[in-house]
Amino acid sequence: MIKNKFTIVWLDDDGESLGHINKILNENYANYNIKIVHIDEPEKIVMQLEKNVPEAILVSLDSEHGIGNLQKLNKYADDESPIVVLTPEADAEMAISALKYGAQDYVIKEHIATDSLFRSLRYAHEIHQLTGKLKKNSNIQQHLIFYDQLTDLPNRQLFFDRLFQSLALAKRTGNLLAVLYLDINKFKLINDAIGHRAGDMILKNVASRLNSCIRESDTVARMGSDEFAFIITDITDEKDIIHIAQKIISNVAQPIVLSGNKDSVTACLGISVFPTDSEDAEILVRNAELAHQRAKVHAVNSFQFFNARLDKKAVERIELEQNLRFALANGELDVYYQPQFNIQQNKLVGFEALMRWIHPQHGFISPATFIPIAEETGLIIELGKFVLNAACKQMHSWHKSGYGDLRIAVNLSARQFRDESLPKIVKTVLRNTKLEPQFLELEITESNAMDSVEHSIAMLSHFIDMNVRLSLDDFGTGYSSLSYLKRFPIHTLKIDRSFIRGIPENKQDCSITTAIIALAKNMEMEVVAEGVEEKKQLDFLKRHDCEIVQGFYFSKPLPGREIEAKFLQKKG
Ligand code: C2E
Ligand code: MG
Ligand code: MG
Repeated sequence: MIKNKFTIVWLDDDGESLGHINKILNENYANYNIKIVHIDEPEKIVMQLEKNVPEAILVSLDSEHGIGNLQKLNKYADDESPIVVLTPEADAEMAISALKYGAQDYVIKEHIATDSLFRSLRYAHEIHQLTGKLKKNSNIQQHLIFYDQLTDLPNRQLFFDRLFQSLALAKRTGNLLAVLYLDINKFKLINDAIGHRAGDMILKNVASRLNSCIRESDTVARMGSDEFAFIITDITDEKDIIHIAQKIISNVAQPIVLSGNKDSVTACLGISVFPTDSEDAEILVRNAELAHQRAKVHAVNSFQFFNARLDKKAVERIELEQNLRFALANGELDVYYQPQFNIQQNKLVGFEALMRWIHPQHGFISPATFIPIAEETGLIIELGKFVLNAACKQMHSWHKSGYGDLRIAVNLSARQFRDESLPKIVKTVLRNTKLEPQFLELEITESNAMDSVEHSIAMLSHFIDMNVRLSLDDFGTGYSSLSYLKRFPIHTLKIDRSFIRGIPENKQDCSITTAIIALAKNMEMEVVAEGVEEKKQLDFLKRHDCEIVQGFYFSKPLPGREIEAKFLQKKG
């Protein structure tokens, strides 16, 4: 005879009654294969569930931790198995609180010898299975109501539901929210040409690409046959919307491989922004649709904002980004040098290399504008290599002409600093340019260094091994904890310009500056004051034992030729 398996987990502090219960159940229900597993702590249910989900869990309330165990068990068991409790006596209150804490039934201990224990466990098991099935069915039904069957994306109804919620949240947080509307260009023609089945595959493919462009907290929904809409939340900067739009457009435009054939589709995107364009869900969607119509007229694979001001910004940014891609090849980038002086010894000690972009139409573009774009697009890796190479080459040539003790500082951006191949790049550049490593100083900003301390320490030690110098740029603005500073193998602290600006009038700036000088000295680091523009600042720094100074007072950053003419005349 095949016996029905019935596993019970018995949760009890001491497990003394295990033998007793086992005996009663197995004697009275011989046609069941009843197995009882004892656990003495609710946490241990997790391991049991991994091995085998029991038909029921029986919890003893006849112990010190009874009710507490039950509460915890519920958390760990996560509704996998029904729970029945064994109460010490006919204590109605205890039984009721057990039900409140998730037990399905209770049995009074004195009655276990009779029928009631196993009947209750079996009953709990049956009910649990039944409700499980019902729940599953209702989940499936819910899914059908709110999700598109082909793409499994939220449908129009769920989209608006989420939009209402997201708008309510955005009103509270004050953050921006964007609604993006997209359709696939000429989808009807494609569908007719390749057939509906292949058309469906394209829609599914596009849907999953769209989904991969957004964060989990954002939404993309299928609004109609080839129409999709997005809710992008928690935006603090308008330019982030441009980013996402670009990402979506370029993702959709990637080739799609269908049964060996490469196809591709194009899309247009319209964008409206809360609260600028409306605070109302329906109007935001309508405005995004209107912007989308304009994008369609404009060009394939393009996007337009409902708001013209944002459009202008987006266009400018995209143009700048595109121009930057060619700036290096077109010879529009250059490296300028700003001298650094030891003011205690009246001596030139070296230069900081600073990137310059001279655009043929727009003229000089500040690094503050183009470095963040280079950083976001990844172009900084190429540009960074260019600066490093040019600066090391220049310094080696100055060494050869008799200035063998000057050093060169080169800035590293966050992305460069995260790039695992950076040490190799630096090594190669030093080898190719023949500059000795102790004359190169790499600058990382304090905030980049603090971003991921362990990574920073590992990265910095590569450079220490190479004998390259390291300096912490913009010091005082990045919330360094002194204990980390101790762990960073740094040679130089550069006091941020914002503190030097207030010297000597602003007492706080003076105090911060003298404190950083003292800190650097105590930690045997050099200190460089940046942005010195006036004599009174210089006098203050001299008086307070600051050694190295850089700023417009001595010189602006200049091209190599001008540096030679102004500062490197004697020996050259
Ligand atoms: P930074 O590294 O802190 O560079 C110092 C900035 O202060 C430079 O601005 C310099 O021209 C400016 N400066 C120097 N002395 C004075 C002064 O007396 N008064 C004033 N008002 N400003 C002074 P720049 O060249 O515009 O560069 C700005 C930032 O762009 C740099 O700050 C650096 O973070 C970044 N940057 C520049 N070149 C590069 C580069 O090649 N690579 C990377 N990753 N970042 C760079
Ligand atoms: Mg710097
Ligand atoms: Mg700086």
